[in-house]
Amino acid sequence: MNLILLGAPGAGKGTQAEAIAEQFHIPTISTGNIIREALKSGTELGLKAKSYMDSGALVPDEVVIDIIKERLAKEDCQNGFILDGFPRTIPQAEALDRMGVRIDRVVDIEVADEVIAERVSGRRVCGACGASYHLSYKKPQVEDVCDKCGSTLVQRKDDHPDTVKERLQVYHAQTEPLKSYYEAAGKLRIVEGQERVKDTTALVFKALEDLV
Ligand code: AMP
Repeated sequence: MNLILLGAPGAGKGTQAEAIAEQFHIPTISTGNIIREALKSGTELGLKAKSYMDSGALVPDEVVIDIIKERLAKEDCQNGFILDGFPRTIPQAEALDRMGVRIDRVVDIEVADEVIAERVSGRRVCGACGASYHLSYKKPQVEDVCDKCGSTLVQRKDDHPDTVKERLQVYHAQTEPLKSYYEAAGKLRIVEGQERVKDTTALVFKALEDLV
């Protein structure tokens, strides 16, 4: 099962990706997490991406396309994968097509901008493994501690309200056109994001039902 999760920043793609990964035993590939990892370890990629990421802009297409090419070639993607945060522009989607990567379904999680702004302020991520949490909707068992690896939870720098505004603008201008792209290919399913994570997950699983 080769999937793409679409949606604005803060729509809950990461959380839904975790649920799908657990249910279907396929890896999640998050370009955002890969870039944050590179930033932490101070690699060339991290340095290149930092200024874009910090301002809420997109990292150049060539950079993320190379990341994805390398990641999809790994053994664990053979039985399927979930792309979380890629593609984010039409040229990125075209690059995937040119690579000959088959996509079975694109699930777009829709959440209104006003709700996103409120949600993102409560978002916390694990500084070590990248798992995502929320102070109201998805609390860790122990405050500020990752359930999965025990590391400290942090707020992402680009989750600052001003940066979120910029990221939403970028989403509408550059990423939203992908809905038409995948609709034309007959691959798009739209899921309305619900207040409770598990209600959204139920709708996401329903959108994948015929692939199982
Ligand atoms: P995310 O964690 O998916 O919200 O990504 C965080 C940031 O990483 C984005 O705001 C971009 O600066 C960068 N990024 C992640 N994925 C992509 C992508 N597919 N294309 C361009 N930039 C990306």
